[in-house]
Amino acid sequence: MDINQKALALGSKRSIIREIFEYSKVRAGEIGAENVFDFSLGNPSVEPPKEVEEAIIELLKTQNSISLHGYTSAQGDLSVRDAISSDINKKFGLNLSPDNVYMTCGAAASLSISLKAVINKGDECIVFAPFFTEYRVFVENAEGTLVISKPNTKNLQIDTNDFESKITEKTKAVIINSPNNPSGVVYSKENIKKVCEILEKKQIQYGKEIYLIADEPYRELVYGDKEVPYLMNYYKNSIVCYSFSKSLSLPGERIGYIAVNPQMTDAKSIYLAICGAGRALGYVCAPSLFQKVVAKCLNAKVNLDAYKKNRDLLYDNLSAYGFDCVKPEGAFYLFVKSPDVSAFAFYEKAKEHEILVVPCDDFGVEGYVRIAYCVSFDRIKNSLPSFEKLAKEYKLK
Ligand code: PLP
Repeated sequence: MDINQKALALGSKRSIIREIFEYSKVRAGEIGAENVFDFSLGNPSVEPPKEVEEAIIELLKTQNSISLHGYTSAQGDLSVRDAISSDINKKFGLNLSPDNVYMTCGAAASLSISLKAVINKGDECIVFAPFFTEYRVFVENAEGTLVISKPNTKNLQIDTNDFESKITEKTKAVIINSPNNPSGVVYSKENIKKVCEILEKKQIQYGKEIYLIADEPYRELVYGDKEVPYLMNYYKNSIVCYSFSKSLSLPGERIGYIAVNPQMTDAKSIYLAICGAGRALGYVCAPSLFQKVVAKCLNAKVNLDAYKKNRDLLYDNLSAYGFDCVKPEGAFYLFVKSPDVSAFAFYEKAKEHEILVVPCDDFGVEGYVRIAYCVSFDRIKNSLPSFEKLAKEYKLK
């Protein structure tokens, strides 16, 4: 068939997470949903904050329905972009204008657009392992090459020596995701500062811009008082890809934004390239109702305590059974070292106990599985005896 073979291949191969999720539905039909401990998907399990419902109702009652559901400007409604830029300025001491903000369909669209805007064919984009697997799809769609920087294996922070060694004259972009999916790690301020210092040095060495793209769907999902440095305050050539999917539990509404650092020398051109890439990819005029909803909910918060309770129950018990777990400081994923020869073998063994976890070799590090604990507290509680049996099978204690 004479159609785009790359697209065909991509569409024919489902991501492993989707495969597991589909298996989980079939298995639930066979043995009952309560007997399948599905930890595969990063779908928020806490309700959106009440401000979301209030905003929807208020908008429906008070706004003209033709304009409420109609097209906005391609880059998003001006009053929404104004509210978002003012909010960023207030929270992080910056000076954005509405013309630094482009409304999008979540972080996925934000990343696709930003990469398309800065990458030319053959440019390299560095990602830090472990990384969200879709980065490969987005980078390759922008005709770039994905380059993986290995983590510090002790704490999964960025290994800055490895990072420096991966930068070449072809490097055009770097993606940072913190809090991290799949590890739950929050990169420290020192780590981020060092990354930015290296980038400044390399920009001078190669006489070109290297863009730092912050992928931030989990910014607000942090346990304790760990700071998540705002990259615009550390590096001028930075772009923030933000999403309300997790911060307001709205993944199905497909809403987020791109913010361009106004301190960039060519901020105006980058913004125009973002508008052009959004247009080329068909991501213009993000969902109109939800643009207006999120503008009213910029300080609303989901119930983080529920995720923290899940994290503590899972981390404490799995560690007690002898599993080697990275303690998550943010997001809602527990990263566990496979006690088996391979992560896939461990995934298969866990499946025999009706526990569904995600083997993470595709995330750029071998030998780990991801457990998404954005599920009910009861699912975690009820799964513990099965995890304990699994640990005994591996003679972990
Ligand atoms: N980036 C990371 C690290 C993610 O985990 C996700 C979704 O799980 C996305 C981007 C895409 O998020 P969105 O739903 O906002 O498109």
